[in-house]
Amino acid sequence: MTTYNFSAGPSSLPTEVMTQITQELTKNQATHMSILEISHRTPQFENILDEAKASLKSLLDLPDNYKVMFLSGGGTTQFEMVPMNLATRLKKIAILDSGNFAHKPIGAAEALNVTVDVPGTTRSIKYRELPHLPAQFDDTQYDYVHLVTNNTIEGTTYHQEDIPDVQHLVADMSSNILAEPYDFKKFDLIFAGAQKNLGIAGITLAIVNQDWLDEQDLSHLAPMQKYQTAIDKDSMYNTPPVFAIYVLNLVLKWIEQSGGIAGLYEKNQRKAHKLYDYLDHSSFFDAMVTGKERSLTNVVFTSGDAKRDAQIAQKASQAGFYNLAGHRSVGGFRASLYNAQPEQAVDDLIAYLKNVEMEYLND
Ligand SMILES: *Cc1c(COP(=O)(O)O)cnc(C)c1O
Repeated sequence: MTTYNFSAGPSSLPTEVMTQITQELTKNQATHMSILEISHRTPQFENILDEAKASLKSLLDLPDNYKVMFLSGGGTTQFEMVPMNLATRLKKIAILDSGNFAHKPIGAAEALNVTVDVPGTTRSIKYRELPHLPAQFDDTQYDYVHLVTNNTIEGTTYHQEDIPDVQHLVADMSSNILAEPYDFKKFDLIFAGAQKNLGIAGITLAIVNQDWLDEQDLSHLAPMQKYQTAIDKDSMYNTPPVFAIYVLNLVLKWIEQSGGIAGLYEKNQRKAHKLYDYLDHSSFFDAMVTGKERSLTNVVFTSGDAKRDAQIAQKASQAGFYNLAGHRSVGGFRASLYNAQPEQAVDDLIAYLKNVEMEYLND
């Protein structure tokens, strides 16, 4: 039986990458050791690290003053590290409250005695639309503006035309980095947990504009709390998760071979538009987000009845469509269509949903 994994994270890896991991896992031809056994202080691992950094700089088209770091603690630790390192001057930031993952960093920054203003929120409408900065917004009052490019749980996205022009912009790109184009130079800090679109859990990518970091007062921070330590020590101040970085590097190579962001964007648009198009024409299922803010990577939908949705998701997994249940805060269904999700998965899912629809409508 063909099976598909629609999990929002950790999520499916490209088949080619899985094959290579499996082939190489027990013994590397050159080192006669497994990647699981080698030290981070080996030429083999240093090559992997250098390749991954170079691939990211080139895929994101970033100049040399942007520094790539591989950190631990997930995206969630970045909710704390970002204000610690980058809100040291005014101690005041603005967060666009577009969903669960935008709401959490508010509490994290406040716990660090950073003042948080929320210039826009769509919490009262369950985040089905995106908040935007008001026209009179004064960015000079803040160390930075924080936004979440793709709201993994709610299925909304600030696509490139919706990215505001402000002095310093921080972006949580955990669930759509390298899935669609942005002018990445518009951001001064980007972070992304690897387990959605970049690889496996255990590693978090952070990229910072060094010129901006240089303006900060970091004297109050311990070494592991500072971005500068990771930059100076090449992400190896402590032992990094060697295997997770190895997988990340394989995924980046796969992305390069898939035509980079442009190639994947074309495929991702095709996948998402097919599914939204089906949902928009269905008299049984409805997409929860309408309009141009729809996410390409997380498609959220419902049949309008929570109990029925849960039953359908359960039955779908028996048919090989795994992890379709929506996040507990939203309910319904969520089909995650990250870079590694094949187009066939969407075609087969639509065919399956059409059958479900017929069954229930004939009941
Ligand atoms: C998953 C996710 C996070 C949290 O990541 P962890 O690695 O679990 O800490 C943060 N932001 C976004 C947008 C996410 O999708």
